[in-house]
This record gives sequence, C-alpha cells and structure tokens, in this order.
Amino acid sequence: MRPFKYTDAQSKEQALSAFTNTSHYLSGGTNLVDLMKEDVERPDQIIHVNDLNYKSVSSNDKGGLTIGAMLSNSETANHKEVRSKYPLLSMTMLSAATAQIRNMASNGGNLLQRTRCPYFFETSMPCNKREPGSGCGALNGSNSGHAIFGYSDSCIATNPSDMNIALAAIGATIEVEKTDGSSRMIDFTDFHRLPGDQPEKDNNLEPGELITAIHLDKPIFSDHYYYLKIRERSSYAFALISVAAGLQMENGSIKKAGLAMGGVAHKPWKLTEAEDFLAGKQPTEANFKQAAELALKDAKPFEANKYKVEMGKNAVVRALTQAFEREA
Ligand code: SF4
Repeated sequence: MRPFKYTDAQSKEQALSAFTNTSHYLSGGTNLVDLMKEDVERPDQIIHVNDLNYKSVSSNDKGGLTIGAMLSNSETANHKEVRSKYPLLSMTMLSAATAQIRNMASNGGNLLQRTRCPYFFETSMPCNKREPGSGCGALNGSNSGHAIFGYSDSCIATNPSDMNIALAAIGATIEVEKTDGSSRMIDFTDFHRLPGDQPEKDNNLEPGELITAIHLDKPIFSDHYYYLKIRERSSYAFALISVAAGLQMENGSIKKAGLAMGGVAHKPWKLTEAEDFLAGKQPTEANFKQAAELALKDAKPFEANKYKVEMGKNAVVRALTQAFEREA
C-alpha cells in the first residue's frame, strides 16, 4: 500500500475543510481499504469520518425514516423501526456480504461501493474505470457477470450493492454536505450514473461532497416484499441477478409496485415500465409474467451473459410472487 496522510475528523467542518482532490473519506473502509491494498485506489489523504454524528434513525417529513450515513449496515438492517417499516431494505441488507463486513460497512459507504469487475481490480489489465483511456478489458473478455442494460463501449460493469437495489424499489433521497458549508438533496434515481464516456465516475457527487443521510420515502411495502438474490454461492457473493420487489395492495389489487434489479447495470436498475404496468392489476402469475417481459425487453446481453435475460424474467416473477404471498 502506498503512503498516505490520515486525518481523523472530529467534526463535519474539519472533514470538509481537509478535503483535497486526491482525498477520500473513509467510514467503515470495507471497500476502500481493499482497493488501496490492490493499488486500485491511490489517495494522498484519508479523512476518517466514521466518528461523526450521522448514526441516527429518525422520522422525516416524507412520512418515512431518515437513516444516518455513518450507521453500520448491521445496525440499520436490525433497527426495530427499519425492520417494521422497511422490511424489504432490512432483508436486502442482510443478504449482503458477511456479518463481519456488515458490522463495519456504513450506509454511505454502501452507496459508494465500486464494481467488482475483475479487470478493475487487476492493475495489469486495461480498465477505463480505473485508468481512463486505457480500454475496457471486459468488453471482449470475460464478461459473463456484466451488464445487460445501459452500458457503453467504455464500460460494461455492474453496481455491486444489494442495499442500492432496495433503495431504488422503495424510493429515497440522499443528503450531502458540500465543501462550502451548504447541503443538497439528490434523488436516489439520479445518484448513480451510467458509464457513458466517463466510467471512472460511478455517481453524481461533486468533489468533496460528504454523504450524511438517506431519507427513505413513506413506507408502503411493509406487508408485501421480497428480495431475491441469485448468486454463485449462498453467502459472501455478489448477485448475478437480484430483484427487490414491493407491492402495496388495496382491495385485492396492486395499488403500487416497487421493482428494481441488480447485477444488470452500472446503476441500480429501476423497472419503471413494469411498475407502471402492475399498478391497478390483479396479482396473478400472468400479470407478473407480463411485467417480467416488460422489465427485460430492452436488455442487450453479450454472448456470455445471455443467461441473464431468462434468469432475470424468472427472477422478477418469483420475487413478485414471493412478495405477494409473503405474510407480513
Ligand atoms: Fe473496467 Fe468497466 Fe471495463 Fe470492467 S467493464 S474493465 S470496470 S471499464
């Protein structure tokens, strides 16, 4: 690992004023430290922000909960109010990584998880995300785990987070503090980016912006929800395909659906067309199958990841079925 300066921020002001363009904020460190060991990330300064006071869970003016960015994934997933109001988020977070990692990883850090594309980690290989302009090793290489939606010739990587998929289904706003002392809100659907010709940018944060909170939309999927994660082994593995599904039922019909897919794009892939189709429909297998067709109709797989299209359709049907049949 390369030498770096370590700043232990005791206040938000200290963290923001210490920031330079070659700095990284560090909270749990479960992703960043690995990347530094692999020489993928090379910050000159680490600003430790995990002791800042952004660890609460409180009610917000949207009728939902606000969860602190520095709260750990375990504390969030096991929080009484999160479990009762957002069981989809809790279930999703508990499917991620291992208990030890969830105990360390923060919510803000989870939003910023970097791709697990093997070429990104292997510094002897070309990778536009790690080294802009060097090429994309995966484009004509080993890409069975890569994107089927929204990619570009510059990058075909996927977002690895489970939590992000639940947030896309539930709806959320991300609060960030800027280096000039002001703050701003970013709708969750605008937080992450598609790769375009700048795959080195995973999200729309400006340099130095510090994530402080995740404001969750009003909970409407607390009775009918499911997170289906398909992976190569049942623990400590990233999703090949995942689906977060929430259904708000009214008089036997679907009033509103929340649906998002993981393992398929550079950002959490919200299935808006399928959600719109399901609104007002009966929760039947035929309707779930039609929603799945809509969800995958624009997929553009590579030869090696064609399996994701059929797997994705089946996953949508299964997640919706489980969500409907689930007893709260
Ligand atoms: Fe790098 Fe993206 Fe290509 Fe993977 S898919 S090698 S992360 S540019």
